[in-house]
Amino acid sequence: MEDNDRYFLEMVLSEAEQALKENTYPIGAVIVDEYNNLIATGRNRVHPQQDATAHAEIDAIRNAGEAILQAKVHRRKLTMYTSVEPCPMCTGAILFSHIKKVVWAMNDDIGFGGYRKIRDSYMFDDRFSVVELIEEPFLDLKERQSALMKEWARNPNDMVNLRKAVCKSL
Ligand SMILES: [Zn+2]
Repeated sequence: MEDNDRYFLEMVLSEAEQALKENTYPIGAVIVDEYNNLIATGRNRVHPQQDATAHAEIDAIRNAGEAILQAKVHRRKLTMYTSVEPCPMCTGAILFSHIKKVVWAMNDDIGFGGYRKIRDSYMFDDRFSVVELIEEPFLDLKERQSALMKEWARNPNDMVNLRKAVCKSL
């Protein structure tokens, strides 16, 4: 349902905005079930928690707790909504977490986007073939996420800026 996709992607963007306020990567994620019940929300916590693996999708999966295992047992259909195309780590976590549909606001062709690269290798085709994918369904939401990424590039915690700060101090 397109309306639900918009509703949950807007929720993801709110999480992303909150992450930016916490001076970390502006990426959010939410997990819902096939009845559109919200199972978990998540956002990037790499800088606040000093944890390189604290990506938004991982955060949402952790917050989903036993719902992931229950979805596997009862063959429920979980959907992951996320800001940006998942990286290789999160792509693996999605395949391990019984997510059957993935929707993201913005593709990532130049960064760490890994979902389509790994899928298109066909090495895990039996896994990817049972996951529906919807990329960039709404231009306005893609643009909102893109604006957040541009704002992040000006944040002192952005890696380019952290490195510049080190150079200056030498
Ligand atoms: Zn990731």
